[in-house]
Amino acid sequence: MVAVAAAGVLLAACSSGSHASPTTIVPAATTTVELAATTTVSTSTTIATTTTSSTSTTTSPPPAISSTSTSTVTSPPTTSPPTTAASTVAGAIPPPPEITPIDALSFPVDTEIEIGRSVEGRPITVIRRGDPGGARVLVVGAIHGNEDAGVAIIDRLASGPVPLGVELWLVRSINPDGQARHDRQNANLVDLNRNFPNKWGYLGTEGDWQYAGTRPASEPETRAIVALGDSVRPDLILWYHQDLFRISPSSGRDGDARARYAEITGLPLIGITGGTYTGTASQWSRTVTTDVGIGFTVELGPTLTETDITNHAAAVLAVAQELF
Ligand SMILES: [Zn+2]
Repeated sequence: MVAVAAAGVLLAACSSGSHASPTTIVPAATTTVELAATTTVSTSTTIATTTTSSTSTTTSPPPAISSTSTSTVTSPPTTSPPTTAASTVAGAIPPPPEITPIDALSFPVDTEIEIGRSVEGRPITVIRRGDPGGARVLVVGAIHGNEDAGVAIIDRLASGPVPLGVELWLVRSINPDGQARHDRQNANLVDLNRNFPNKWGYLGTEGDWQYAGTRPASEPETRAIVALGDSVRPDLILWYHQDLFRISPSSGRDGDARARYAEITGLPLIGITGGTYTGTASQWSRTVTTDVGIGFTVELGPTLTETDITNHAAAVLAVAQELF
């Protein structure tokens, strides 16, 4: 109870965006550090552990959560080995780097926790909210740095009421470096939405709009969200993009969820085409969700009104309540 009240204050402070910078981490980490410092006992231990272990394995200054130097490791214990893509190309694709597992289910509600760092050392965080044990929904506000209108939906979900039976996992952005430069790619010029360790393929070269990186999950941003997904195993994963203004239709429960979301938000159900869809976040999402789980992309329009934000937040909660 105390933790929730304290975290409520922290979240409110967090959305204001104005912080004095406390201590050790790079300026962009301000929010997370402040929250982490005041987190209740059990999780601050978790965070400390994560941060320290990455610092000790990586000697360079701004620590990435997982070290890219340990490429010889065969397969980490709790990470499902995403080797399906490799098998289709007869071993031509190198395995992903080691993905350091995290114990997200130990995170307290209403507290913002760092789950990894971007290439340039910016924190990637998650806020767990609602009813632990309810329908688990992971929502990612931005993956392409120049398509971050969805962050406002995350902020709304982070501050509004969550109905019983719904557990939210809210990630504002897995591409803070891209956001800082208003670029699609991360700081290594990789399209994170082609970098996931499921059906990954070589694609483009550095700077190409769909450049997939050097291997599956080559980017620390990808590994951070993969570790979170492996730990949480959500029922539903949603990814916001811009600005095609649509949701791709589908069938079964997946189709029902998309249709319900579209109905509440006014987005049309129209296919998304035009890219080469290897190593995408949506495809990966379906590999870590529960056996009834699904994941899909929501293409927002160029801008979001306050009403849009309200409707999208309502759609997330409605789909979770009604379909899971
Ligand atoms: Zn996009």
